[in-house]
Amino acid sequence: MTRAHWLFGDQLGPAFIAADTGGPDPDAGLLMIESRSVFRRRRFHRAKAHLILSAMRHRAAELGDRVTYVRADSYREGLRKAVGRKPVTVHHPTSRRAADFVNALANVTVLPPRGFLVTREDFASWADAHEHGGLRLEQFYRHVRREHDLLMEGSEPAGGRWNLDHDNRESPPPGARKLGAPAPYRPRENDIDAEVRHDLDRWERDGDVSFVGRDGPRMFPASRREALAALRRFVEHRLPGFGAHEDAMLAADPVLSHSLLSSSLNLGLLHPAECVDRAEAAWRSGEAPLNSVEGFVRQIAGWREYVWHLYWYFGEDYRTSNALGHTTRLPSWWNELDADAVTAHCLSVVLRQVRDTGWTHHIPRLMILGSYALQRGWDPAALTDWFHRSFIDGYDWVMLPNVVGMSQYADGGRMTTKPYTSGGAYIDRMSDLCGGCRYRPDRRVGEDACPYTAGYWSFLRRHRSLLRHNARTSGPVSGLDRLSDLPQLLRQEQERGDAAP
Ligand code: FAD
Repeated sequence: MTRAHWLFGDQLGPAFIAADTGGPDPDAGLLMIESRSVFRRRRFHRAKAHLILSAMRHRAAELGDRVTYVRADSYREGLRKAVGRKPVTVHHPTSRRAADFVNALANVTVLPPRGFLVTREDFASWADAHEHGGLRLEQFYRHVRREHDLLMEGSEPAGGRWNLDHDNRESPPPGARKLGAPAPYRPRENDIDAEVRHDLDRWERDGDVSFVGRDGPRMFPASRREALAALRRFVEHRLPGFGAHEDAMLAADPVLSHSLLSSSLNLGLLHPAECVDRAEAAWRSGEAPLNSVEGFVRQIAGWREYVWHLYWYFGEDYRTSNALGHTTRLPSWWNELDADAVTAHCLSVVLRQVRDTGWTHHIPRLMILGSYALQRGWDPAALTDWFHRSFIDGYDWVMLPNVVGMSQYADGGRMTTKPYTSGGAYIDRMSDLCGGCRYRPDRRVGEDACPYTAGYWSFLRRHRSLLRHNARTSGPVSGLDRLSDLPQLLRQEQERGDAAP
């Protein structure tokens, strides 16, 4: 190979080898490096390791003779083995660590990032113009809709409203155990998966790496063909019901109408443009209602783009933000995804979903897992690492803003206007998870005091002086004065400590 174009393990779709402006030389050989040290450094969910390796090996099989696939201890060793000092191009990696690494290599030329709608330059000029009033998703999302002509009718939003969140926050249908949405696409495993499972078993046996979680049959796409089938199935069958119950939680129906496309997008198997374009086409042809399509477009063209750009815009120091001064270590039952150790029904159900699949939807991530950690003052950097390792769609860029900013308020409000946490009443309203629980959402002290309800008040008390100055939290903070049992509640929460609730 005289010249090579290197594909990282999350650059697996056609966008990363397209020889258009800013793309690689069409005559360059392709290079992929499977680095063992990536898995040695951290204790990943085994289903995640499986998915990434399976997806890389599927891509290598598709590319055939065009690719040199190297198994090495590290990227450095892989490069040395495959290309020596010959020139290499690579599209901008998705983590700061990998970007620093490739930028420091003399023979590597870094091409612009791919796999997102908005360019770095466009985001920077939007952010510079808006920073004074605080960066907010809603303004950015409208900017993207206008610039990319998404769900627009001339200069107006389709249907006359930018935001249909109001229609998309329904509780689960009363008494329903399941939403009844058509089943999502699930892939069928093949020889590549068998080989991956065999390798993971061997690495574990050799004591080389250690994983957490269960590696059941692979649930998420590992190839472009599978990812397109998953997108098609979602748009044709599940998108119509996506909106209304987007925030609901049902113990027996963890997926509801969610798309399950995050891992395919983050592996680069799908491009966000094709996802939002197909969703919009479904609305224009009358196959999906506007609230569902707007909700989905908001997630991908809004949230996903916003999070990607904030990762780079906020800079490296963002990683260590800790505005609330939270330093408590994560307990071992949490680290081990030990759902059976947990009595609180909601947390046990969600932790089990993570243990068994490496996935749960955005409200359990935010309002069950993140909220629990926030209330107990857990170290935000350790929690970010936990989310990164435990979720099949977790990557550095997507974890930092979502966990440090969105979920833990560790950035002091650069990303959100208030900390996202609640008592058990919210969980009860949005789910069936409180039914049959030994704790009661309306109890804050005593044996059956809900850990979320008590945790909420104890969190507000701990950060009273900060939160009383925030217009969105000053009301609840003043509610503290009306709690005659507050001293008892605080004692109780101290005694509960980090034991599994
Ligand atoms: P859907 O609900 O169907 O949404 C469609 C798509 O929108 C997703 O596939 C995803 O690509 C995108 N999206 C929506 N919200 C976000 C967001 N906040 N950030 C980035 N993309 C978004 N998403 C990840 O892709 N990887 C993560 O590691 C991740 N960690 C999270 C941690 C926390 C604490 C929170 C609150 C959210 C996190 N999210 C993450 C965002 C969101 O929870 C997942 O994208 C979503 O649950 C994936 O399931 P889905 O594909 O069915 O999503």
